[in-house]
Amino acid sequence: DLTIGILSLQGAFVEHQVSIERLNLNRRIRVLQVRTEQDLDQCNALIIPGGESTTIALLARLSGLFEPLKQFANTKPVWGTCAGAILLSNSVVGAKKGGQELLGGMSISIARNGWGSQIESFEAPLQVDGLRDSTRPFSGIFIRAPVLLALKNSPNDPPIQVVARLPQELTPESLISQVEEFDADTTTIVAIRQGLHLLTTFHPELTKDDRFHEYFVRECVLNANSP
Ligand code: GLN
Repeated sequence: DLTIGILSLQGAFVEHQVSIERLNLNRRIRVLQVRTEQDLDQCNALIIPGGESTTIALLARLSGLFEPLKQFANTKPVWGTCAGAILLSNSVVGAKKGGQELLGGMSISIARNGWGSQIESFEAPLQVDGLRDSTRPFSGIFIRAPVLLALKNSPNDPPIQVVARLPQELTPESLISQVEEFDADTTTIVAIRQGLHLLTTFHPELTKDDRFHEYFVRECVLNANSP
């Protein structure tokens, strides 16, 4: 049996649990809500949900989970959605100084709340690559979502694979006030995979479409744990 943990300090963790449990897999997957180091020790993989990245980091620090999570993210499959995506990034802009700790693990930089107030939340049909039934778009739900600024993998890092993109015309104009320069093409990337990790800036767990959950289990978890 494999255990997928869901970091359950704050945010949309129950929705992830429901999505994983709904998957019809021919292997037994146990889902565990993770709140302590002992919980984490039982996990083969982890999902970090959306919510508020500063709050999640702070609660992780207070419960002694921060360093164990960092180590976990170094060696085991982790999927971060929205706030979780921020925590998995190696660098973030738009965070108050000293106010944001990151687990890191993915060689990208990201901007918090990059869509700005006018389109803080929106839904958009995404072009996906590598998911089951890839010609069918995935409905992406974005809630004060972060925006990818740059892919920064060095030759020693695992390659970055783009898994989902926004329609080209959704360019985050509000980013201009936060960063001096950004590559418009990168800002349309909303899901990537790097090594054992998956990152989505939107919320697949808020839809009934489980293809991202299936993708994470198949590509990141089962692959990493097959003999
Ligand atoms: N804006 C949140 C943050 O910066 C993320 C929002 C979300 O997870 N839906 O942490």
